[in-house]
Amino acid sequence: MAVPKRKHCKARSRKRRGGHVKLKVVSVITCPQCSEPMLPHRVCPSCGFYRGKEIVSTEAE
Ligand SMILES: [Zn+2]
Repeated sequence: MAVPKRKHCKARSRKRRGGHVKLKVVSVITCPQCSEPMLPHRVCPSCGFYRGKEIVSTEAE
């Protein structure tokens, strides 16, 4: 017996999801140490500080 490949087309599923299944907006904050843009709740990639303390040393490179 032949098996149908799909019940709905992609557009139909995507239309239904429309509002609640979507890409998230990436929030960016400014580092208080070096004022570089960085992701919140993460160690700063440029100066290695988090919550006023140096967590990762950026000098060893
Ligand atoms: Zn920083």
